[in-house]
Amino acid sequence: VTGTAADGGAPAPGGGPALVAALGRIVGGRHVLTDPDLTGSYRTDWTRRFTGDPLCVVRPADTAEVAAVVAACAAAGAPVTVQGGNTGLVAGAVPGDGDVLLSLTRLTALEPVDAVASQVTVGAGVTLANLQAHARAAGLDFGVDLAARDSATVGGLTATNAGGIRVLRHGDMRAQVVGVEAVLADGTVVAHLGGLPKDNTGYDLVGLLTGSEGTLAALTRVRVRLVPPLDHRVVALVAVEGTGPALDVLRSLRAAGLPLAAAELCYADGVDLVRSYASLKAPFDQAYPAYLLVECAGPAESEDDLLAALGEADGVADATVASDPRGREALWRYREAHTEAISAAGVPVKLDVAVPVGRLAAFTAELPAAVAGAAPGARSIVFGHVNEGNLHVNVLDAVERAEPVTDAVLRLVASYGGSISAEHGIGRAKGAWLPLCRGEAELAMMRRIKAGLDPADLFGRGVLLGSLDAAR
Ligand SMILES: Cc1cc2nc3c(=O)[nH]c(=O)nc-3n(C[C@H](O)[C@H](O)[C@H](O)COP(=O)(O)OP(=O)(O)OC[C@H]3O[C@@H](n4cnc5c(N)ncnc54)[C@H](O)[C@@H]3O)c2cc1C
Repeated sequence: VTGTAADGGAPAPGGGPALVAALGRIVGGRHVLTDPDLTGSYRTDWTRRFTGDPLCVVRPADTAEVAAVVAACAAAGAPVTVQGGNTGLVAGAVPGDGDVLLSLTRLTALEPVDAVASQVTVGAGVTLANLQAHARAAGLDFGVDLAARDSATVGGLTATNAGGIRVLRHGDMRAQVVGVEAVLADGTVVAHLGGLPKDNTGYDLVGLLTGSEGTLAALTRVRVRLVPPLDHRVVALVAVEGTGPALDVLRSLRAAGLPLAAAELCYADGVDLVRSYASLKAPFDQAYPAYLLVECAGPAESEDDLLAALGEADGVADATVASDPRGREALWRYREAHTEAISAAGVPVKLDVAVPVGRLAAFTAELPAAVAGAAPGARSIVFGHVNEGNLHVNVLDAVERAEPVTDAVLRLVASYGGSISAEHGIGRAKGAWLPLCRGEAELAMMRRIKAGLDPADLFGRGVLLGSLDAAR
């Protein structure tokens, strides 16, 4: 793997052509890719900052094939990087050099929706958009949503414990996952898919594998809870003078008892970038320092209540509201196109942090100096899920200064009692800073779990704890 803070790794003993041939016998030759022209999209991450050189890409069709592939890799001592949609933003799905890249995008089974339990079991390779469509066709919905919905897979979302734009209403991925089936590092298949709401029969293995970033097991099927459809939606883009006023408005809307479903924050420079990238007109007659996007959703219309609450709230400089699908989408575009627009502008240093929400305004006031001190002249585009105090700090024109920028921002985050990774995970990119959030005893406990389940360190070598070790 090349790229800042990424881990290398020699080709595995026992790997090589014999293993490639053995994998071909399991999945069929055309699902084992070695030609660099065919493996390109699997090797480099979404940000284009990290890339690796796998022994091969292997694309099994079902759990049995995944188990056989993993067993063959274990027998050969070959490290395995698990990959879903490859939309992760911390390089966890980028293969170590010489790894077998285990792509699970062919695991696309959609089992029937269990309407009584309001749950469904799906293959790990099902995209978020397809899960949403499947749930909606059954009169229900899925509680997690994010801009990478057309590519991100249920396996990846579970492995990263993804958050997204609906955490305010439904919680993160861990709050949706009620069961998993997974292949362990020796090829054993474990399954706990009953989805019982009450089940105190030992350690929470489902919870453990959720957020394990491909370092403990390959998830093959996931059972998730579904939520009632919220047919009446209204979106407001609210112009504000900064982070503090945005939080004031949000507090007022919450106090008004509105059925809030999302609350997102972005700033003038990000909206300018999005506008030029997506050719959008200005949302207001004049520019404002910051914008709060809120969505209300429920079984009944709430537009009048939202307008009334915005009229009462302190801190609203201007606001525009839409309840029809096109109008709502147009307002969301100012926020949702941030990630794409930033990537189109260059290769960003991506940081995904959270601080206690009451300290968010002070943190955002200090942030520019921290970035400027580490990378003079760099451009920071900041946006995020404001209700959870979660900001995505994207630093452009700073790839050569990636490490000092990351260090400065994450140390500032830690000084605020925050998290160095609110939703993207640690991957290969953030291990060096893990001790800012996790104590030695916690890290030692994680190591014992990893060693117990994967003693040869085959899954996600160089990811999470491996990323910390590579940095030490
Ligand atoms: C435009 C854009 C917007 C985004 N917005 C958000 C957001 O709002 N919130 C958020 O949390 N994230 C967001 N992300 C990040 C990303 O979409 C999520 O991390 C997502 O969960 C990754 O899913 P994936 O299938 O692409 O996983 P990958 O990128 O393929 O893998 C991510 C990690 O999960 C592991 N993994 C993948 N599949 C499996 C499996 N079946 N079993 C075991 N391990 C596995 C990999 O080894 C890797 O460590 C965004 C990304 C983009 C590009």
